Amino acid sequence: HTNTPVLDNFWMPFTANRQFKAAPRLLAAAEGMYYTDVDGNKVLDGTAGLWCVNAGHGRKKITQAVERQLSTMDFAPTFQMGHPIAFDFAAKLAAHAPGGPKGGLDRVFFTGSGSESVDTALKIAIAYQRAIGQGTRTRIIGREKGYHGVGFGGISVGGLVNNRRVFPQIPADHMRHTLDVERNAFSKGLPAHGIELAEDLERLVALHGAETIAAVIVEPMSGSAGVILPPKGYLERLRAIADKYGILLIFDEVITGFGRLGTPFATDYFGVVPDLVTTAKGITNGTIPMGAVFASRKVYDGLMTGPENQIELFHGYTYSGHPVACAAGLATMEVYEEEGLLTRASELASDWENALHSLKGLPHVVDIRNLGLVGAIELAPRDGAPGTRAYDVFVDCFNKGLLIRVTGDIIALSPPLIIERAQIETIVSTIGDALKRAA
Ligand code: PMP
Repeated sequence: HTNTPVLDNFWMPFTANRQFKAAPRLLAAAEGMYYTDVDGNKVLDGTAGLWCVNAGHGRKKITQAVERQLSTMDFAPTFQMGHPIAFDFAAKLAAHAPGGPKGGLDRVFFTGSGSESVDTALKIAIAYQRAIGQGTRTRIIGREKGYHGVGFGGISVGGLVNNRRVFPQIPADHMRHTLDVERNAFSKGLPAHGIELAEDLERLVALHGAETIAAVIVEPMSGSAGVILPPKGYLERLRAIADKYGILLIFDEVITGFGRLGTPFATDYFGVVPDLVTTAKGITNGTIPMGAVFASRKVYDGLMTGPENQIELFHGYTYSGHPVACAAGLATMEVYEEEGLLTRASELASDWENALHSLKGLPHVVDIRNLGLVGAIELAPRDGAPGTRAYDVFVDCFNKGLLIRVTGDIIALSPPLIIERAQIETIVSTIGDALKRAA
């Protein structure tokens, strides 16, 4: 056995391939706040894996639940039959549903990933409109810089242009809401500015007609575009405009769900309740792939019993409600409950904010943004080579024992919610030292 396996056969997500093969970093084990690489070095996890390991790595309760379920019943379908653990898990999730008991988002549809959750929510929205006699409403409006996974559904409403550039035919009947959320980041000092950008939805309604629009989908806080925060009042305004025209509002909470902002969901943080919420990642603490869509009773009832309900419509996945994933999810929710993790980020938020903002004024830093236990440090791009400076900082941090995430020239941070204050300091000082060394 060598520490470095054959690298050629594994097809990595496209963009990352070349840089990785030039200098492979291989993780071999994980426990608590740390990874261990193949050479035995400990690496502090500043990203909760990929925004998913919210309770930290190697949680015994989750592992044992998975082992127990695997050895009891490895798989069972959820078509025309069920298994208790899928119902138990749906009930557990419903008890924490986005928007609380009053929000009414307690109908849970299981998927296998965030991208599948997005596809599911888009299909539910269009099918719901049809079921209630609004069959001309087939258009979904997304947002500039929106990220909704990489399925065809998600890229058709996504606003990260590179992700759909080579599929020009895809977004034919969808329209992106051209809102420039970046201009409105809290951190750029324009907290009151931006409500009027929600009015852009009014423009699209006037352009296309409300009778063509099924739903609008947004991330309440954009993650993959580099942690872009919504201006105050923006989500409320979107909700009001959507209501005015019979348009459903979908929040993509794949990143913000399960305590990331210090509330169970961003829906709770912002106090704006959508009609559908997509989730994944933290739902099983990153252990077994899974996602879920929360739907309001209005949407559920309309879709299932509306006058033009399409009884022949089929939607569901082989792995919807997979028993092992449900076991992992149920144990994950118990860990979140027992340790208060769904609100822990709110206790740490001000320390986190202060620590991050202590990096202000260091070389290359042009903006720092934070919300809950999410952080972004935006660097000035290197002349003629955008993204390379942040990548250098990423490599430097990794070599010093810290995992961060970079997208373009933005460093994104989202540590496990079990993080200790001393580890916050370690994250910030390691990044600070790397910035001072970066050319
Ligand atoms: N929506 C959002 C907001 C996401 O951040 C992501 C993944 N980062 C997805 C959807 C897609 O999730 P997955 O990669 O599990 O398909």
